[in-house]
Amino acid sequence: MELVDIRAQPLEMLAGLLEPERFELLMRTAARARELLAGRIVWNINSTASGGGVAEMLQTLLAYTRGAQVDTRWLVLDGDPRFFEITKAVHNSLHGSLEGRSGFDAADREHYQRVMAANAAQLHGMVRAGDIVLLHDPQTAGLAETLARLGAQVVWRCHIGRDQTNEITDLGWEFLCEHVTPAHRFVFSRASYAPAWLPPERVRVIQPSIDPFSTKNNALTEAEVRQVLLEVGLVHDGADPDHVQFQRRAGSRGVLLPRGGLLSNPPPHEDAPLVLQVSRWDRLKDMPGVLTGFAEHVAPYRPDAHLVLAGPDVSGVSDDPEGMQVWAECRAAWECLPDRERARCHLATLPMGDVDANALIVNALQRHATVVVQKSLEEGFGLTLTEAMWKGRAVVASAVGGLQDQVTEGVDGLLVKDPTDLATFGSLVTRLLADPALCAALGSRARERVRHDFLGDRHLTQWVELFADLDS
Ligand code: UDP
Repeated sequence: MELVDIRAQPLEMLAGLLEPERFELLMRTAARARELLAGRIVWNINSTASGGGVAEMLQTLLAYTRGAQVDTRWLVLDGDPRFFEITKAVHNSLHGSLEGRSGFDAADREHYQRVMAANAAQLHGMVRAGDIVLLHDPQTAGLAETLARLGAQVVWRCHIGRDQTNEITDLGWEFLCEHVTPAHRFVFSRASYAPAWLPPERVRVIQPSIDPFSTKNNALTEAEVRQVLLEVGLVHDGADPDHVQFQRRAGSRGVLLPRGGLLSNPPPHEDAPLVLQVSRWDRLKDMPGVLTGFAEHVAPYRPDAHLVLAGPDVSGVSDDPEGMQVWAECRAAWECLPDRERARCHLATLPMGDVDANALIVNALQRHATVVVQKSLEEGFGLTLTEAMWKGRAVVASAVGGLQDQVTEGVDGLLVKDPTDLATFGSLVTRLLADPALCAALGSRARERVRHDFLGDRHLTQWVELFADLDS
């Protein structure tokens, strides 16, 4: 297992964004945490240090816990490609999809257990009785039993789920059941994600959050946004008509994007209206659906608008073995577009090796976009939506999973009831592109919604309540 560095970030940074009573509650909570956790360590274990929402949240939330002088550590487990193929299939099944598999067999279970046992062996001597361990997602579920035997308080935090269970979700839960049951508490992003067989008194709902001061969300001026996007070649300013592919443009920040960077060349002009989806290359994010929806239902009405689909450089996401395949499928769908539409659709792969460079580019893209979409077919929560809302963007999201908890239809964004209905999706995007006043009104309420409900102080307070409850 690898120990990930956690920097310390003072809670006081949040003071300017919170009402005085809310900030005081946070400071009281921090004092309570220090008392409760004196001499104990709070461990987090997940499957990757970068890429995806869990890593994103741990990077920022754990910095505040360190800032509050709570001894927090973050471990990333070791796994081989077969292990990650199995756990990605379990992940998909909890979202109701099996992607060509028929289920899980004895060999899958045995392999999962073997990898878990090798990781569990490393925890002896590290985790002590009384420590608290937060295990994230299916990849780590098999560590619960060992940790409970070591005397730790174990919380299994599941970031995924589906509102209605079906025979496919049942297969995933059958796989996980024996592994998760030794945990003392179970935390989900929505109440409907918890399987009925878990004891309700041990189940908690805690929604994710973002950090307004991370590189991903920090304020940028319009000039800074344009500078970042010009430097990496994600937009052009007309000065260089023979654009080289953006991966070749190593800007002054030293950002050198990997091969495959941006498919459509030239990139959009910096003044062109931009529609954006940022996601991992995961089938359930439906990047090809966004591409088709834009090409067929937005492009004909808005010949000036461009689409950017941005995701990680697929070679860099170790716990997501499907990434390469889904990227190839998107690329194939892009190649099939008519020339005119293809020139306005851009598939960008962003470097993951440099977390800060990635975050800065995503930040700039989200701030530059006129409309940010998240047209997932299923979604645990969807931090990409929270991030865009925080930046005051007009958003169009599918009314699925945690996305529907973030957007109040017509108030702080627009929802598509059926994410496979590309005509409705396209018409909502087109409506927003045509109405800057509506975009501004939705965007400013979206930012306020995030400030109210999805910042780290609420999240940390809920964790401390849970820790207190574990001790009672
Ligand atoms: N993300 C990123 N670069 C990418 C794609 C995604 O930094 O190329 C980040 C994104 O900004 C967000 C997280 O990865 O912070 C994705 O979290 P979300 O909850 O939306 O989805 P998940 O990937 O966990 O399913």
